[in-house]
Amino acid sequence: MIAEAALHHDLDPGGPAERYQIVVHVDSAVLADPDQPGQSVLADGDRLSAESSRRLACDASRVVMRHDPDGRVMKIGARTRTIPSALRRALHHRDRGCRFPGCGLRFTQGHHIRHWANGGPTTLSNLVLLCRRHHRSVHEDGFQVERRADGELEFRRPDGRVLPNAPALPAVHDSEEVLRAQNAGVDLDACTLRPASCGGRLDVGYAIDVMHPRAIGH
Ligand SMILES: [Zn+2]
Ligand SMILES: [Zn+2]
Repeated sequence: MIAEAALHHDLDPGGPAERYQIVVHVDSAVLADPDQPGQSVLADGDRLSAESSRRLACDASRVVMRHDPDGRVMKIGARTRTIPSALRRALHHRDRGCRFPGCGLRFTQGHHIRHWANGGPTTLSNLVLLCRRHHRSVHEDGFQVERRADGELEFRRPDGRVLPNAPALPAVHDSEEVLRAQNAGVDLDACTLRPASCGGRLDVGYAIDVMHPRAIGH
């Protein structure tokens, strides 16, 4: 008997769900271990790497089907979200954006640190928000993420070196008054930064002539 999960995944949570839905058929053995033989295909029959299936399955709607040895569907389970909406709200409240060092992007997907197909629980401690690009980094590109005993996340490069957490950005104190004081004499308005050129290429010779007095006459 083969178990197969059909995964419905909304790529863009901000867009119309139907437009971005992709359906993946993947054998449960492949989902748990990408080295296992079995299918991992899109609804139209195109093959998908097992690692990509695992990524899409991380945060998706899941339908489990059971087949008999001849491939006939025996049983179709109810469609469920891998991350229930209440837990998703708590996850967004905690992580806010992508937790990959230095990212922080607000459009995110839930990632199971230990995949649910390998028995990882769908709990806050086993989940982390990642943007689409960094979700790919940890599934397909060899980056690793662990939650340490103290609860902090630890990201590693594909070669195993720890990725340092990006320092927090300095607070910006420059108010409009400060900027105006620092640029006294400059008439600041909405057109200040508008280029005066017509879009032509930079004339390097001309620029040097203007900016470097000794260059004149060369
Ligand atoms: Zn994931
Ligand atoms: Zn990111």
